[in-house]
Amino acid sequence: MAHKINDDCIACGSCLPECPVNAISEGDIYAIDAATCTDCAACVGVCPSDAIHQA
Ligand code: SF4
Repeated sequence: MAHKINDDCIACGSCLPECPVNAISEGDIYAIDAATCTDCAACVGVCPSDAIHQA
């Protein structure tokens, strides 16, 4: 399992420094590398758009 960022992402960057395994990459909307994500959920609470959910 991994977490996923949906279209509600506003590319604010809040989640980026929270990920302990650097699974999040920048873009028009941010993305989580499913192969790297450990499903820790550290990024979920910092997203102001509630765009990060378990895939
Ligand atoms: Fe990184 Fe944890 Fe978010 Fe996965 S759930 S992208 S490991 S912070």
